[in-house]
Amino acid sequence: MALASFFRKPGGKLGKSYLAGSMMSLAPTKGLLNEPGQNSCFLNSAVQVLWHLDIFRRSLRQLPGHFCQGESCIFCALKGIFSQFQQSRERALPSDNLRHALAETFKDEQRFQLGFMDDAAECFENILDRIHRHIVPEETDACTSKNCITHQKFAMTLYEQYVCRSCGASSDPLPFTELVHYVTTTALHQQIRQRRHKDETFGDLLQAARTIGDQQNCPSNCGQRIKIRRVLMNSPEIVTIGFGWDSDQSDLTEDVIRSLGPHLSLSTLFYRVTDEHAKKGELLLVGMICYSSQHYCAFAFHTKSSKWVFFDDATVKEVRGHIPSSYSQQYESTC
Ligand SMILES: [Zn+2]
Ligand SMILES: [Zn+2]
Ligand SMILES: [Zn+2]
Repeated sequence: MALASFFRKPGGKLGKSYLAGSMMSLAPTKGLLNEPGQNSCFLNSAVQVLWHLDIFRRSLRQLPGHFCQGESCIFCALKGIFSQFQQSRERALPSDNLRHALAETFKDEQRFQLGFMDDAAECFENILDRIHRHIVPEETDACTSKNCITHQKFAMTLYEQYVCRSCGASSDPLPFTELVHYVTTTALHQQIRQRRHKDETFGDLLQAARTIGDQQNCPSNCGQRIKIRRVLMNSPEIVTIGFGWDSDQSDLTEDVIRSLGPHLSLSTLFYRVTDEHAKKGELLLVGMICYSSQHYCAFAFHTKSSKWVFFDDATVKEVRGHIPSSYSQQYESTC
């Protein structure tokens, strides 16, 4: 995975109720250390994006408690970094505790081990999955816990089904949840090239790219090849799109980046959206993790200052340039 982008709903619902207490506590921007040999850039990028997602940061702060894993507790380690972000006077902080907790938790899978480079989007997804497990430790089919940030804020509840336009036959609907919506850049690029009309949105392109190869024979054997339909049933507040680079084809990069829109409406991303709130939902780009030359860095929208910030481990830089007016509107209703 190479690029993950994060969209959130403008003017989050939580805005007003938490405004009073947090007016004075500016969410400061700090870097995260990555000493030679640590290869922690994938983790640092994921943490920076999580910290800058206002909905996530506030929800984590509000959580009453969790089922603690002690030494290897990802939840505690993440909270530790977050409180350091707020209290420390250093300009860059170590992410070692979280790195250790992650390595210890995924020891058996041999993932995220100390000193080894890993995938930032998968790291982000696994941190969210662990947060769910720290809140809802028992195995359930579909998590409905009101406290679970992962499923309440990030998860897309979907089903997919093949429906034949010609004879009406359909396959059984297959329900599933998704924390990151993955699209390959090769498929996206193909859609960009085939773009039929100019007003096709970023969401339209993503939907077309995601469903491109998903065809099968009609279940009633009428002879038609039929396409998959994905239907969104909930209204996630934060949506994460993961772009998979199938190969090192850097010549696709420019087209892909140019297709990235700052707005994403959920109704374009899926065949159908059933939730009334989600139908109207317009999401705004607020964070990105990028990968190039064996290294991850991140961009995040800093709500307080209404500025984009670039994070490359310990280095933090403000991104100067034109910011669409919708960002300053969003800024007013958040804290
Ligand atoms: Zn803990
Ligand atoms: Zn959950
Ligand atoms: Zn058919």
